[in-house]
Amino acid sequence: MGEFDVIERHFRPLAGDAALDLSDDCALLIPPPEQVIAISTDTMVENVHFLPDDPVETLGRKLLRCNLSDLAAMGATPLGYTLNLTLPRDRSFSDAWFSAFCGGLAEDQKHYNIPLLGGDTTSINGPLVLNATIYGGVRPEHALRRNGAQLGDDVWVTGTIGDAALGLLALQGKLADPDGTFSARYHLPLPRVHLPLGGLAHAAMDISDGLIQDCAHIARASGVMLYINADHVPASPAAAALGAEYLKHRLSGGDDYELLLCVPTERAEALQQLCAAHHVPITRIGTVRKGQGVHVHDHADHTLTFEKTGWLHF
Ligand SMILES: [Mg+2]
Repeated sequence: MGEFDVIERHFRPLAGDAALDLSDDCALLIPPPEQVIAISTDTMVENVHFLPDDPVETLGRKLLRCNLSDLAAMGATPLGYTLNLTLPRDRSFSDAWFSAFCGGLAEDQKHYNIPLLGGDTTSINGPLVLNATIYGGVRPEHALRRNGAQLGDDVWVTGTIGDAALGLLALQGKLADPDGTFSARYHLPLPRVHLPLGGLAHAAMDISDGLIQDCAHIARASGVMLYINADHVPASPAAAALGAEYLKHRLSGGDDYELLLCVPTERAEALQQLCAAHHVPITRIGTVRKGQGVHVHDHADHTLTFEKTGWLHF
């Protein structure tokens, strides 16, 4: 099966109008009126960002969802994405493999309302590498930056924190995962797109490399300190059942793809109403204070220290 057969059979059905049937040199994307284009890109390398025996139908979906999470963190609505596949030369990729890979993507494209715009396929003497670049639209005044947190803001997170990091432990055989909660979150994040946070949040980012490390990014960009109560960081029932032993792992593990928001106190109710209307759980975990960095404490006001605050890429 050649490259052109694969494009014809598997990728062309994913392409949107702007992709011009994947038959020209570029896609032509028309930006929505009065919006700017938000752009983000992500690479996933086998054995680094996913495991060789992860289900094939989840690979493209995870890549797409990681990218969607960046759009969500910017308050942008998805417009399209490009996809680059680099395949190991020493393995053969069957029609069934592409079918499963693209079938997963088709499902998510429909769910998140985003078309494929184009892409490229190459091969190397190395691992499987997946890359996507995503494009979204946002009114410039509604773009959620990291540098806008203000003193007195409340710090909020969506969803639950730490399940994907526990999922990696489970898939490595280091932790039991009886109902599959943890591994499911590792395989498929739940990006919080289509949540209109513009005008509500002062600052936002998505939690991809570990809650504490990502809090530090907002603190640095905004010139403030994030004061976090570890006991308030939301846990799934499965994670809560593990008790305090895995608390630090949950707070510093990666792959959450939830939103971290700094919102003025007077907008707390509006935020909770908006999230309830979109069926997105949201929890207040701390406040923005004068100072720098991240201060994590528990109910007894003990300070928690972290040897590792999150995932370092190199
Ligand atoms: Mg991000």
